[in-house]
Amino acid sequence: MAEILVYVDHVDGAVRKPTLELLTLARRLGEPVAVALGAGAEATAATLGEHGATRVLTADAPEFGDYLVVPKVDALQAAYEAVSPAAVLVPSSAEGKEIAARLAVRIGSGIITDAVDLEAGDEGPVATQSAFAASFTTKSRVSKGTPVITVKPNSAPVEAAPAAGAVEALAVSFGELATGTKVTARTPRESTGRPELTEAAIVVSGGRGVNGAENFAIIEALADSLGAAVGASRAAVDAGWYPHSNQVGQTGKSVSPQLYIASGISGAIQHRAGMQTSKTIVAINKDAEAPIFDLVDYGIVGDLFDVVPQLTEEIKTRKG
Ligand code: FAD
Repeated sequence: MAEILVYVDHVDGAVRKPTLELLTLARRLGEPVAVALGAGAEATAATLGEHGATRVLTADAPEFGDYLVVPKVDALQAAYEAVSPAAVLVPSSAEGKEIAARLAVRIGSGIITDAVDLEAGDEGPVATQSAFAASFTTKSRVSKGTPVITVKPNSAPVEAAPAAGAVEALAVSFGELATGTKVTARTPRESTGRPELTEAAIVVSGGRGVNGAENFAIIEALADSLGAAVGASRAAVDAGWYPHSNQVGQTGKSVSPQLYIASGISGAIQHRAGMQTSKTIVAINKDAEAPIFDLVDYGIVGDLFDVVPQLTEEIKTRKG
């Protein structure tokens, strides 16, 4: 059976959810072989094995932490050459997309980014992408070289699929470019206790209708009642009401949760670009003609200052 290389996103050995989703998709295409790099790489093997990885290629070296992505590309290329996979899958994070793009150039392959689904095809994997505010769904396949595909978080379920997960050391040598850009400082963001925006199963977003930084407390309260991440439109971010890192949209983050709740957001195309692939979309807006209602599964016409607190209370009551 063909082997599918899966690049592992992990923090000190804790595998992040988008990688487990990639394993689900990889199993549709062949036998997943995971590549885990950096501190804690070997510790990822148990989790990866539980989700279908037959082999886990690991490498650790100071270069992975001290420099930007090139050492990781060197290692992924070494894995590619060792395995000769039928496809390479990488999580669609900013770093993942840079790694995937650099690998594709090096190996002379086509690349597809931000896929939301993958299936096996007669001539290789077929990727689904969503375009133009979900007006179009495209299906594409790589027609040159080994397909390199990045997949957005929340595109597939996490499935238990016990496999060997056998750890194998990957021999890596770094090229001249690997140490070209050094990381000089890392400042961890203050933790809000909420899930990461791009990985969250539920996102509650606020827009200009929230009308002030202090009013985002009601958006946060609804998010917390659901265990959700908080997003914001660019209008809310530009007004200084919420951090730029929480912006959803064309020039912000792209999210694809199970549930997206937009409050006081009109639904401009640039906002849609970042949330259109959400599985279920709910909007709360006092203007029944707001364009966001063209996109939603459930729409609530009303003042968010009435609706959102009621929703939060109701959810809390039902949760007991
Ligand atoms: P508005 O369009 O002003 O909508 C506010 C909505 O709130 C209205 O529909 C109103 O009816 C409703 N409302 C007001 N008060 C209440 C209330 N009390 N209760 C209920 N509803 C209420 N935007 C993004 O979001 N993300 C991006 O990444 C992004 N990138 C961009 C890139 C470019 C190049 C450009 C040109 C624009 C970009 N924009 C982006 C901006 C985008 O065009 C819109 O201006 C922006 O999304 C509008 O934000 P909004 O919906 O919060 O505000």
